Amino acid sequence: MSTIFTKIINREIPAEILYETDNVISIIDIMPIHYGHALIIPKKEYKTFLDVPEAELKELLAVTQLIAKALVKTFKLEGFNFFSNNGEIAGQSVHHFHIHVTPRYPNDKVSFAHNLKKYNEGQMKEVADKIRANIS
Ligand code: 5GP
Repeated sequence: MSTIFTKIINREIPAEILYETDNVISIIDIMPIHYGHALIIPKKEYKTFLDVPEAELKELLAVTQLIAKALVKTFKLEGFNFFSNNGEIAGQSVHHFHIHVTPRYPNDKVSFAHNLKKYNEGQMKEVADKIRANIS
């Protein structure tokens, strides 16, 4: 079964399309953090960031920057967030990789991080060593 985004790409369901290339589409998110919140989506149904071939990342990021610039210009933004939820535990609800770009405004109370942790002495190196061992 195809994802909701594939249905949008195939024009089976409507969406406000901001921009489109052969490989990437950008649409307005139906439930925005702020008006203009946009999604940048590869046309192929990759599940998460980890499934996107390296060769396709450049265009995805270029379109993300293009859309972010348009949002900044349109809403005269001082800042914006771009982010991606990967896996249900991280809040991904549509299992077709996508990048969110949302406007931010002063005192808008949008928050991504609560209860930030602290490292104990030596713990940061321990954690970094484990990660470094898995970079290939
Ligand atoms: P996720 O939760 O997977 O990171 O993000 C999925 C996003 O897709 C949500 O922000 C949600 O509002 C948006 N979305 C889900 N269904 C539709 C739809 O039918 N049309 C549009 N334009 N956006 C959708």
